[in-house]
Amino acid sequence: MHKKNISVAIIGAGASGTILAHQILEKASLISDAGVKIYLIEKDGDHGPGLAYSTPLPAHILNMRADTLGVINGDPLHFVKWLEGYDSKSKASWVDINYPPRNVYGEYLRAVLDLTIKKAGSCSCSIEIISGEAVDVDNNGRAFCVRMAVGGVIDAENVVLAPGNFPGAFLSELKETKGYIPYPWPVSDITDNIPRDKPVCILGAGLSAIDTLITLLENGHTEKITFLSRNGLLPKVQGPAFDYQLKYVNKENIDRLLSESDDNSISFDQVKRLYMDEVEGAAGNKINWLDVFNPQGAADQILEMDISRAESGVIPYQAALTSSGPLTGYIWNSMSIDDRMRFDREYKTVWAVYRHPMPLINAKKILKALRSGQLDIQQGRTSIRPGSKGGFEIDVTTRLGVPFVLKAPCIINATGQETDITKFESILIKRLIKKGSIFPHPNGGIYVDFYTSVVKEKSGKGIHGLYALGEITRGVHFFTNGVVPNMVSSGRISDSILGENWC
Ligand SMILES: Cc1cc2nc3c(=O)[nH]c(=O)nc-3n(C[C@H](O)[C@H](O)[C@H](O)COP(=O)(O)OP(=O)(O)OC[C@H]3O[C@@H](n4cnc5c(N)ncnc54)[C@H](O)[C@@H]3O)c2cc1C
Repeated sequence: MHKKNISVAIIGAGASGTILAHQILEKASLISDAGVKIYLIEKDGDHGPGLAYSTPLPAHILNMRADTLGVINGDPLHFVKWLEGYDSKSKASWVDINYPPRNVYGEYLRAVLDLTIKKAGSCSCSIEIISGEAVDVDNNGRAFCVRMAVGGVIDAENVVLAPGNFPGAFLSELKETKGYIPYPWPVSDITDNIPRDKPVCILGAGLSAIDTLITLLENGHTEKITFLSRNGLLPKVQGPAFDYQLKYVNKENIDRLLSESDDNSISFDQVKRLYMDEVEGAAGNKINWLDVFNPQGAADQILEMDISRAESGVIPYQAALTSSGPLTGYIWNSMSIDDRMRFDREYKTVWAVYRHPMPLINAKKILKALRSGQLDIQQGRTSIRPGSKGGFEIDVTTRLGVPFVLKAPCIINATGQETDITKFESILIKRLIKKGSIFPHPNGGIYVDFYTSVVKEKSGKGIHGLYALGEITRGVHFFTNGVVPNMVSSGRISDSILGENWC
């Protein structure tokens, strides 16, 4: 039976919280007299876009094709259709209509929220849009009480934690040092503080580092820019979309391996083998895996080859990896914690390089910057200290063991988001850890039930009515840094909140 007259407080109104609110009301509208009440709480005052889709720069484009990012169930092309009605003058300035500016996607999410508000008005439900920071959640066993920073409380039978992305704590000791920018967001932290005529070192070489490079170039930066990362690898370049039928990495094979195991888990080596078979099967030939895990060659030459490959048609391994996306959470959850740790230590970066390729437009910008000599990419392990005459001195030891000192007046840390919740800069998260409501997962985020996303205490017991959504469930769900997986989780949470058989 479905539940009626329930209340839900969603903490965080980025893409995840916004999509969840829509899904709950969409489903509730099919129940007569559902009487659902939603409180959508956002500390930044802008409900919908969240961190990723509020950048003001049009040059920060979506990393995925528009036709994969519709958020309405049963209407996968909803975003594309919404774009058809978008201002044509503005559209004419986009390099590729398939990769609109991310802030346009932010507008789309605001439009989805408007739809949600209308939906609530048309059924016996309501949604209250609340601006302010939630700083605590108390549980009296029957309901929750969300405490707001400015005072006041919100009572609700269900609470969903959807606080999203937090800056990495790596190098936090440099936080107050002049010339050091700990996080590339908001972009004004860069444009207001980095002189255009000073060399800059960007830590990282992934999608965040590329966004940071684009911020600097759009701001008219004239001096040298260096990417410094442990492996010096850029993300691969996205080829065209392609339907692909998985032959090895599929649920049947995972379930078979699980049934054959003594401890109901599969090993990382088994998963790796399945993926290697899949990619070789997709390519139709044997692959030199050393080249994949440890590519050799100058960055501009590798990038030029990747661009030409993306321009010349479908890239089989990308089709295979993309198709495996919906299964990755299940596979991840079937591995032991130790094997997940091993993946994080040894393969996380290379996985991101191949699994989350960059759009062609960005690849061409990087190649241009590399060829002009403005950008270079250094690879190596580092230690960083403030220089004696200002700026920074960075000890770099390349993989070939050659040491050198890189001097940079400014450093921007673009190594990505924090996954260790004990390091989140959030009063709410700190308080929930302290009172034992949430418990750090060794692979990042907190413990939740895999299917319902109900938050689990240290004892493993679920806290009835308390859910988590987005990056904060990374240790359990793995693929949490995208709209699509967070839509799937929203679907399960909304089902659980409305009762298993909600319709
Ligand atoms: C730079 C960047 C680019 C990306 N590009 C893409 C892309 O092209 N395609 C894709 O699928 N994915 C992309 N992603 C992944 C992206 O993170 C997810 O797609 C999705 O936007 C995450 O949404 P979220 O709501 O979980 O998190 P967030 O966007 O971080 O939103 C969380 C919200 O919660 C609020 N909040 C936090 N704590 C509190 C509190 N205590 N009280 C009240 N409010 C609170 C925050 O202010 C924030 O607005 C990108 C990520 C980044 C960082």
